[in-house]
Amino acid sequence: MERIVVGFRRDEAGHWVVMLECGHERHVRHDPPWMVREWVMTEEGREAWVGRVMECSEC
Ligand SMILES: [Zn+2]
Repeated sequence: MERIVVGFRRDEAGHWVVMLECGHERHVRHDPPWMVREWVMTEEGREAWVGRVMECSEC
């Protein structure tokens, strides 16, 4: 299900977690070369995702 991104937070380990409108959360790791999500490392990159849709695997 596609859900709107409402914000981001860091977990206890310092990894970025995206918060979705449905209340679910998912990790958005930047862990090259497996997971390349450089955008999550910058404030601008994260802000650009707020209001956009991301697939929620729990919905
Ligand atoms: Zn959800």
